[in-house]
Amino acid sequence: MLTAHKALWWESLDEAQVICKLCPRHCRIGKDTYGFCGVRKNIDGELYTLAYGYPVALQADPIEKKPLLEFMPGSRVFSLGTFGCNLGCVFCQNDQLSRGHYDEARQYDYFSPARIVELALMHGCKSVACTYNEPTVFAEYAIDIAKEAAKNKLAFVLVSNACITLEAAADLFPHADAANFDMKGFSENFYAEMTNSHLRPVLDAIKYFYSLGKHVELTNLVIPGKNDDDNMIHAYLDWVEQELDPTVPLHFSAYHPACKCNIPPTAATTLRHIRDTAHERGFDHVYLGNI
Ligand code: SF4
Ligand code: SF4
Repeated sequence: MLTAHKALWWESLDEAQVICKLCPRHCRIGKDTYGFCGVRKNIDGELYTLAYGYPVALQADPIEKKPLLEFMPGSRVFSLGTFGCNLGCVFCQNDQLSRGHYDEARQYDYFSPARIVELALMHGCKSVACTYNEPTVFAEYAIDIAKEAAKNKLAFVLVSNACITLEAAADLFPHADAANFDMKGFSENFYAEMTNSHLRPVLDAIKYFYSLGKHVELTNLVIPGKNDDDNMIHAYLDWVEQELDPTVPLHFSAYHPACKCNIPPTAATTLRHIRDTAHERGFDHVYLGNI
């Protein structure tokens, strides 16, 4: 049987309902039901996480695969993910995990934070990454893994959609050494139509992480006709220039049809055009992926 772990960042609304304050979705969750992410559950009027200790994907990867191209290059990172995500991207490239659920009647192997770090060391990794699904939804576990990693002189990395409240980010982000954040598309309309969420809190969280002096890289999955418009790319570059810094590594990756999205794949020429546009504006740390 899976053992639920008491969650952080929530409040009782009344005897039955709780409100989760981990991400800006602020789900109101009734007894015996789950939040949008599918891994946080109201049990007897208290919020629990089912994801703590139960990764469903574990692997040692080159750090470049995250992608982090300017952080500890050439090293290996021990990567883990659970079920669950707080966004509903119609193009999700990993929906088996993001929309997956724990079957509470099933037995899952438990991996304590110390065990995760032990495995990272066994595999010759220099860092641990919370990745694959969305680390925000297992933030309690991520924090404890980060603490254990620090004790063992391993770096800790997030690969995240940055959809997290600043309250929870203040507890999680200081433990991370680096992050690759998704920039899904630089408009509120894109976020609403394609991800079932909002852009503004994502920008606030990325700015906060950057303000802590951490290493940031950003990844934009380019979807033809949706987020590849020149105006949108320029608005994104303006924001990076003004709020972060033009030396922040920017990744533009090709999308492939997945999940509920059957738009044809991104042409390599589109990605090269975006890279040229960024170069012309003085952005020198621009990388193309999936081509
Ligand atoms: S973390 Fe999950 S339960 Fe909490 S507000 Fe976000 S989607 Fe809802
Ligand atoms: S944030 Fe990532 S994992 Fe979550 S639904 Fe979107 S693409 Fe999938």
